[in-house]
Amino acid sequence: MGKIMRVNMSELKAHIEEIPKEYQGLGGRGLTSAIISREVLPLTDPVSPENKLIFSAGILAATTVPNNSRSSVGAKSPLTNTIKEANSGGAAAQKLAKLGLQAVVVEGRAKELTSLKIDRNGVTFISATSYKELGNYGVIDRLRKEFGNNIAIISIGPAGEWGLKIASVMVTTPDFYPRVAARGGLGAVMGSKNLKAVVIDDTNSDKVEIKDRAKFREESTALSKGILSHPLIGVFKELGTACLVMMMNAYGCLSTKNFSIGQFQGAEKISGEHMVELMKKRPNGQHVHRCMDGCIINCSNIFTDKKGEIIVSGLEYETIGLVGSNCMIDDIDIVAQINRVCNDVGVDTMDVGGAIAVAMEAGLLSWGDGKTALNLVKEIAKRNDRGLMIGNGCKFTGEKLGVKRIPHVKGQCLAAYDPRSLKGTGVTYATSTMGADHTCGNAIPNPANPAYNPSAPTGQGPVSQFLQAYFAAIDSLGMCLFASLPLLDIPELQKNLIACVSAKFGTPLDENYLTNLGFSVLKTERKFNEAVGFKKEDDRLPRFFLEEKLLPSGNVFDVPVEEIDSIYNF
Ligand code: SF4
Repeated sequence: MGKIMRVNMSELKAHIEEIPKEYQGLGGRGLTSAIISREVLPLTDPVSPENKLIFSAGILAATTVPNNSRSSVGAKSPLTNTIKEANSGGAAAQKLAKLGLQAVVVEGRAKELTSLKIDRNGVTFISATSYKELGNYGVIDRLRKEFGNNIAIISIGPAGEWGLKIASVMVTTPDFYPRVAARGGLGAVMGSKNLKAVVIDDTNSDKVEIKDRAKFREESTALSKGILSHPLIGVFKELGTACLVMMMNAYGCLSTKNFSIGQFQGAEKISGEHMVELMKKRPNGQHVHRCMDGCIINCSNIFTDKKGEIIVSGLEYETIGLVGSNCMIDDIDIVAQINRVCNDVGVDTMDVGGAIAVAMEAGLLSWGDGKTALNLVKEIAKRNDRGLMIGNGCKFTGEKLGVKRIPHVKGQCLAAYDPRSLKGTGVTYATSTMGADHTCGNAIPNPANPAYNPSAPTGQGPVSQFLQAYFAAIDSLGMCLFASLPLLDIPELQKNLIACVSAKFGTPLDENYLTNLGFSVLKTERKFNEAVGFKKEDDRLPRFFLEEKLLPSGNVFDVPVEEIDSIYNF
């Protein structure tokens, strides 16, 4: 088990400690949530020095288990006021794990903008005043020039420094593209600590400790083979997450026109199929790319313009669904450019898409007007009134403009799946410990499970509850969500995964390990939120989802309240 590094920004001091008993066996989301719930008072102001920002490697980071090194970032959220964990691909978690660190806990607030360099000798505090208000792309360039290529970078853009409610945390891939722990405004927490960047250099580090390497290798090989055998993985390999555009459109749940329609006439122009064709034709374009070493799916891409200039990597379904169809923008190049601007200033593309759509509903700009939308997003970096409005997200923008239909739960914009047709996902949006967060338990149609009807009004509570526990465990292991999907259909693979954890720790684990871990993480998070003051009445979707029929299906969100309220009966 790795150790914990504690960094006191107020005193510019750090030390490394053994993992206390109460945190043993945890990693990723499980560890960030355990630390917040024990060490942060529930009523703490999220952007005060008393909040803690935690970077954690998952339990299986930097091992041969495939797709298993996501970086978790946790804190009390300035956007939702709940406990929060957002995770990202990239190289940071692998490097932390190789340095023997399960987590870095950042406390206090530095007097001036500061960066950290973490390597096998410990921590160096570096003045970052010359990086003030520098965008993430500039930060990456300068830090690479200074520290070379054997590093991973975690950073914030100006939005984090300014405390915008949807500020994100950027994590570099091994080839230095930004991936993003986007949700919940954790970049604002990083900014409130005056922490601009963390550089992690694992030069001369050791392999992570594994008690039974032979068994580990055998089980992780079987797991990789099993994951690759699932038909869904072939689709992700070919089309990336943007494969979901046409799938969700066909199912009538692609967020369109501020969640008023479930199908978009321009869907094909922003689809994965179209993007792959473009990237095959354009210079430097790549329709397959991996965000971390050890990925066997490569769902990411490198999106270039006609001349071959790189715009963004990767362009994902959630951004396309919220910035594209939800704003009726059918120009994939504009969507990519908006994504780049968001990455540079350091804000969540999903909440930005939600904000633009409510601004369109208010008449501030026209539906489908991508060029004006792009200029509006560029205003975030100008820090003018309109930019600050969009940069504080969908709820803030909707309220400011007097819009009645604001698609959020606990302050966070919904993902690009309409909950009137995906009702299990709707239950997850309503009840997740993180606000409207699809990654906490997305119940999408599954050809391998034809018995499940995502638009039936009943039976969604148990589905959401199971998925929320499962993905809480997956987030704690550090596994990429896409690699974890085959395990839901092929239970034998769950046994392989559990056997890997068992071989790593050298302790026997029973077949309920994932479920027990997941439920215990949810319990910890729910308890924190209840202490903040959240009640069952907060676990509700906005009324318009219950009253307005989704076109063209005519569906409304009609899951009984008792089913929604039963999620935490465990
Ligand atoms: S499948 Fe996609 S998101 Fe997952 S690790 Fe690979 S590139 Fe990253």
